[in-house]
Amino acid sequence: MTDSYVRVRGAREHNLRTVDVDIPRDALVAFTGVSGSGKSSLAFGTLYAEAQRRYFESVAPYARRLIHQVGAPKVEEVSGLPPAVALEQRRSAPSARSSVGTVTTLSNSLRMLFSRAGDYPDGAARLDSDAFSPNTAAGACPECHGLGRVHRVTEDSLVPDPALTIREGAVAAWPGAWQGKNLRDILATLGHDIDRPWRELPSAERDWILFTDEQPVVTVEPVREAGRIQRPYKGQYMSARRYVLHTFADSKSETLRTRVRGFLLTEPCPVCAGRRLRPEALAVTFAGHDIATLAARPLGALAALLAPTARRDDDGVAATLARDLVSRIEVLTELGLGYLAMDRPAPSLSAGELQRLRLATQLRSGLFGVVYVLDEPSAGLHPADTESLLAVLGRLKEAGNSLFVVEHDMDVVRSADWLVDVGPRAGEHGGRILHSGPVAGLADAAESATRRFLFDPAPPPERTPRTPTGTLALRGVTLHNLRGLDADFPLGVFTAVTGVSGSGKSTLVTRVLADAVRDHLGTAEEPAGPQDDGSAEDAADDRARIAAAEGLSAVDRLVRVDQKPIGRTPRSNLATYTGLFDAVRKVFAATDAARARGYTAGRFSFNVAAGRCETCQGEGFVAVELLFLPGTYAPCTACHGARYHPETLEITYRDRTVADVLAMTVDTAAEFLADVPAAARSLRTLREVGLGYLRLGQPATELSGGEAQRIKLATELQRTRRGHTLYLLDEPTTGLHPADTEVLLRQLHGLVDAGHTVVVVEHDMGVVAGADHVIDLGPGGGADGGRIVAAGTPGQVAAAPGSRTAPYLARAGVR
Ligand code: ADP
Ligand code: ADP
Ligand code: ZN
Ligand code: ZN
Repeated sequence: MTDSYVRVRGAREHNLRTVDVDIPRDALVAFTGVSGSGKSSLAFGTLYAEAQRRYFESVAPYARRLIHQVGAPKVEEVSGLPPAVALEQRRSAPSARSSVGTVTTLSNSLRMLFSRAGDYPDGAARLDSDAFSPNTAAGACPECHGLGRVHRVTEDSLVPDPALTIREGAVAAWPGAWQGKNLRDILATLGHDIDRPWRELPSAERDWILFTDEQPVVTVEPVREAGRIQRPYKGQYMSARRYVLHTFADSKSETLRTRVRGFLLTEPCPVCAGRRLRPEALAVTFAGHDIATLAARPLGALAALLAPTARRDDDGVAATLARDLVSRIEVLTELGLGYLAMDRPAPSLSAGELQRLRLATQLRSGLFGVVYVLDEPSAGLHPADTESLLAVLGRLKEAGNSLFVVEHDMDVVRSADWLVDVGPRAGEHGGRILHSGPVAGLADAAESATRRFLFDPAPPPERTPRTPTGTLALRGVTLHNLRGLDADFPLGVFTAVTGVSGSGKSTLVTRVLADAVRDHLGTAEEPAGPQDDGSAEDAADDRARIAAAEGLSAVDRLVRVDQKPIGRTPRSNLATYTGLFDAVRKVFAATDAARARGYTAGRFSFNVAAGRCETCQGEGFVAVELLFLPGTYAPCTACHGARYHPETLEITYRDRTVADVLAMTVDTAAEFLADVPAAARSLRTLREVGLGYLRLGQPATELSGGEAQRIKLATELQRTRRGHTLYLLDEPTTGLHPADTEVLLRQLHGLVDAGHTVVVVEHDMGVVAGADHVIDLGPGGGADGGRIVAAGTPGQVAAAPGSRTAPYLARAGVR
């Protein structure tokens, strides 16, 4: 007898209200509910966590203590649960060295093909497949060590202003403070004239100062300054080139490395021409191309090139390997990813693209009897691509697996075999199962927020598109797949940019438009938060060319609200990011008890030594090495997650400690801090963007991309704004239930009503239907895209021939 259900009894993780639920196996199960209702707490926090715990107990009994520390999910019993694989979007940042090829393991197969079936020059020995990887010593180009780029310095880059003397700082690349003076004094001791303008020094002398590899040691007579007498000392010279290259390669200080990066010119490696491999490896070809060339081809084109070999009716190595590659690429193409190339760095992919790559890779794993737990697999997908996503999910199911997906896209939800709707609202107002059964049964769940969107989506209200106040016109734009594109963005209105995955939407909006406005404003944009994504290094070879631009002067400010994390450690959280925590700390410092003890606001920061728990240094968590799982945190055993020194927690405000306040949700805190104006304003905007369910102390590492984006938006909304602001958002509805989307849209349209411009990249046809202007890119992805297929009001685009968006927009009820 086999019971074909996973049966959960007494689930209490996070906000779940002692939930009992039965979920069928070997089915596509959708979990729905508004943000914060408890979907992830059930799907990831309970089902996946429990499967993972059992797995670890079975394979690594010695890890039990650690598992105990990390904590088992709060659930009385789960029966019938198969092993689980999670394909989650949050917390799965790829490493800098990984690429589309490594994530999918397609690289291994292509290297094998070259090793075993490539065309070698006459007399050359066969190479091992490692020799085709730039990440191995056997394969890497010896000049650039497999990076494909070399860093160089020139006199111009090191000495930007040759009118200066050495004493005035002509060698700008040199370090500041003592070390810089030291080098200057060494030069003076060696007899160089440090008071002559740089350009007047003899060229041999200038070359030596900047480029020599000699490192003479001399006894330095320090140059006297402001009458201070210094003793002679021994100093060693280092040329500016040596200093810059060494610091860039070896310094542990990110600040120093960033500083010297400014003096480096980055160029393709002269030996491998950016192809990253040894000459011997590059000499091997397949179908007339070297491996680097094939890795740079879009996957779709690569499959076409391999097809003749794959079709060959033999079971030789070449045919077998080519068949394998082609069939794996087909799945990726089906998921709308055929425009990606194998050498594309994984960090430049969106979360949705990455999840679909991993999904496709799973199809090949041959696993069966597994539960795949997925987080909004439709994120980043045009409705046209969603159909193929469903087909791929269907194949995983046919192979004997179960699919549990947290989803907001009603098209995906409608095609599920089973629906678990959690709610009715967020946090403590949610956490109940409103429906668990076939999709149609949701019709009887009166409390469900999902029901209205699933069964009778209201047609968008009839509205007259706003009239633009001007136009921002870009001409001859070239970047990625945009080739000499002309694009007009109307100002003072809400514009939606649409198109299939890879058509160029993000490139046009978050790169080209953002760069053009930023360059015009001449200042760094005001990011809604810190945004060091380490991409600066690549910026030089990845910048847009824009032949002409008009209308830029109407824009006074640029704000990009993206989905990057608001912080990478549990030290940053919602309260610190929004500035709300400053107000909270002041409230505590102002209590009589705190004043009596001399506690200032700083004492109530978990980042300051005096007030925090010393065991975990205010993190509330300690990192544990749990087998091969990176970055697992367990609650601190000293403060149990409270983060503070016990004495700090003796101070209360209205009977609550500062740790209690951090544990409150935004909704609760809004009531508790209603008469603290600075806090109340932040809290109000957070609720307005639908984040009332988040806890103030929720670590940045636990927030989804969509949540991070809404926190940034709220932070921006609470600012007082002047002038005309251009807001750019990339798929702001990711992670949002349609009910939450309504709330968000009200905010965005409010910004337009206040005279600003909003441009969103969007797939949700409800959002597009409500825009004033639509720019549809396409027609396909990659080289098949990059053109404007249609532009105009939603009604005009819905009627445009040749647009893949049009039918879906028309279906959304646009007139
Ligand atoms: P959903 O997936 O429906 O958006 P979640 O399951 O993520 O909702 O969250 C449900 C509730 O649990 C929310 O109130 C959220 O603030 C809370 N929550 C989520 N993660 C944690 C956590 N790690 N610790 C405590 N509470 C959490
Ligand atoms: P969309 O936003 O419509 O999904 P993108 O703008 O992300 O499309 O991509 C358009 C094209 O540009 C695709 O062919 C993609 O592979 C390419 N592309 C995007 N980002 C990069 C990058 N950082 N490096 C190289 N190519 C890129
Ligand atoms: Zn090289
Ligand atoms: Zn602690």
